[in-house]
Amino acid sequence: MRSKLLDSPIEYLKGVGPARAELFKKELSVFSFEDLLLQYPFRHVDRTTFHRIAELTPDSGEVQLRGVLRRIESVGGGAKKRLVGKLRDDSGVIELVWFKGVSWIQNSLEVGKEYVVFGRVSAYGAGLNIAHPEMEEFDPEKSKTAPTLLPVYSSTEKLNSKGLDVRARRRLLIELLQRVTPDDLPENLPDYLLKKLRLPSRLPAIYGIHFPKSQEELDAARKRLKFEELFLLQVRLLQLKSGRQASIKGYVFDQIGENFNNYYKEKIPFELTEAQKRVIKEIRRDLGVGIQMNRLLQGDVGSGKTMVALLCMLIALDNGYQACLMAPTEILAQQHFQTITENLEGLNIEVGYLTGNVKGKARKAVLERLESGELHIVIGTHALLEDWVQFQNLGLAITDEQHRFGVEQRGRLWNKSKPFPPHVLVMTATPIPRTLAMTLYGDLDVSVIDELPPGRKPVTTIHRTDSHRLRVFGFMKEQIALGRQIYVVYPLIEESEKLDLKNLEEGYEAIQRAFPMPEYQVSILHGRMKAADKDFEMARFVKGETQLMVATTVIEVGVNVPNASVMVIENTERFGLSQLHQLRGRVGRGADQSYCILMSGYKLTKEGRQRIETMCHTNDGFEIAEADLRLRGPGDLEGTQQSGILNLKIADLARDGRILQTARELALHILEQDPQLQHPSNAVLKSYLDAHKEVWKGWGRIS
Ligand code: ADP
Ligand code: MG
Repeated sequence: MRSKLLDSPIEYLKGVGPARAELFKKELSVFSFEDLLLQYPFRHVDRTTFHRIAELTPDSGEVQLRGVLRRIESVGGGAKKRLVGKLRDDSGVIELVWFKGVSWIQNSLEVGKEYVVFGRVSAYGAGLNIAHPEMEEFDPEKSKTAPTLLPVYSSTEKLNSKGLDVRARRRLLIELLQRVTPDDLPENLPDYLLKKLRLPSRLPAIYGIHFPKSQEELDAARKRLKFEELFLLQVRLLQLKSGRQASIKGYVFDQIGENFNNYYKEKIPFELTEAQKRVIKEIRRDLGVGIQMNRLLQGDVGSGKTMVALLCMLIALDNGYQACLMAPTEILAQQHFQTITENLEGLNIEVGYLTGNVKGKARKAVLERLESGELHIVIGTHALLEDWVQFQNLGLAITDEQHRFGVEQRGRLWNKSKPFPPHVLVMTATPIPRTLAMTLYGDLDVSVIDELPPGRKPVTTIHRTDSHRLRVFGFMKEQIALGRQIYVVYPLIEESEKLDLKNLEEGYEAIQRAFPMPEYQVSILHGRMKAADKDFEMARFVKGETQLMVATTVIEVGVNVPNASVMVIENTERFGLSQLHQLRGRVGRGADQSYCILMSGYKLTKEGRQRIETMCHTNDGFEIAEADLRLRGPGDLEGTQQSGILNLKIADLARDGRILQTARELALHILEQDPQLQHPSNAVLKSYLDAHKEVWKGWGRIS
């Protein structure tokens, strides 16, 4: 049952009306009473004490004053027009100033009246002022009963200038809260959970978040609402997962045959790490049960995901099916193709290669051989997704660096096989913080390779400013003299940014001057080059014919040249943490000590500095991902942008990891005991979920 009151359109709330309703919809996506009620304040201000004007300093922060408005006038004209007032208490005078909504504010204030004023003190010229203070007429009666903590809501300039400022918002909420009954907001968490976790029930928590009477009440309300949000999310994700498992059948791969065995016994070039073995076991279990696999494989750069992919493809072959491996770039696809054909040499396995650059006869041949079943494995880019790519029987689709593909693109792989979709394995080297993975991928199975192959020396990372460039060049020359190779990477975030390209080209010239031919050979690689030129340059570097590779981030993904031991990153401050980590992962792949040198200007933003410090401090991808989450928030992390799931109202995945963990565990436990939520003690939960299904549309699978 949904509440009639809360489903009412926002224009019908007293004090809103059609014009303000439009604003609410446009600016805040508030359409109904419920939307307004559930937009929680992001902080509260303490209104228990009044400051004395004479004692204010530029560092006083937000203060509450009580004084008489002495003067108010608009000064300046045009864009510079502003409203200036003077407030006096028995200790002194301070200036109040407004730049927006000038006439509206001027009309609503009256000289000579006593006001309660709230705002942030700033230094202005030699004195102090408060810009855009909240003003309320002082009312001796009200001040006795007024709440001590007042809510502050996120707002926009438009809302503020049209009179829907924080005070108006509070009034609307008071109006609404007076009308809300327990029937409108029935409890949605089972009673035993509330008792166990000592949480307030729903309606009191909603009162408590908007107008708490004490800090304790506010804390309890927050905790309850965060838990509620995360718990409901987890229950939904887990239900989705079990629903999917029940509904999507898959091919049964129960054979381990000669392809796998021959390769594993005779060809495999190294012993698998324990983590690789565990992951393969997890995947094998999935493949054997007749339900489509939908598994995410996380493993830091260099952890050996390719080998896992190869072994899984061999299992598909042993069961009579084809397999494909899709990579986000041509370079990476080619490397996979090379590695895998080399690995499979001498075995009776046909491997094809398909990208946008495979054309004409070669293309036709691949397509025909795929359709006839002559090819067992195909490796390529998103060209594999095209409709004319038909398989005889695709049983396993693997996507590398999955975050580079859109959700919709990945979905197209599902249609390449009949009667069931292929098993899907998506691999990513972008470690996702646990809290985020639990939410973002809560309905997926996740395997983690949390161990690097033996013998790797951690990369030494240092930060150097541009003034040290000559010494850095000197160091690079020493390394080259030892027979090593070097990457120099420039940011090229948007491949179309001309300025970036100019940076790269100038950098290339500078490198050529510092490292002259014939003693040194330099490769260059960027996204604008023709495929054939890229291949040529890449091949020269892989073969060791060039010592330096000057490149943009096209080398970021997957490229593997074990002899490269130095990664120099230019303009480091322009890269995100996960990208830096990816880039650093290109070195440290051989037996030699490797280095990552982060170049930057002398001046850095606080965040830029923190990113660089994080990189110098740790090599652990998960630790870096956690730092990234803290610095940027979940919405900006790579791979999460399209995820509506992260539009949380109150919980914060970077900070509320413990609550999330509890919510996840309890949700798992409850659904294990009562999968359909039919037990009377879970009735409130079930009826809430049934009544709030629509928020959940469009979620279900990531691959
Ligand atoms: P990523 O997980 O980043 O894709 P790769 O699959 O490219 O990593 O592996 C990185 C390197 O480690 C490759 O040269 C690969 O041959 C090697 N490698 C993978 N697994 C092992 C292992 N168990 N022992 C030794 N070397 C390994
Ligand atoms: Mg890889």
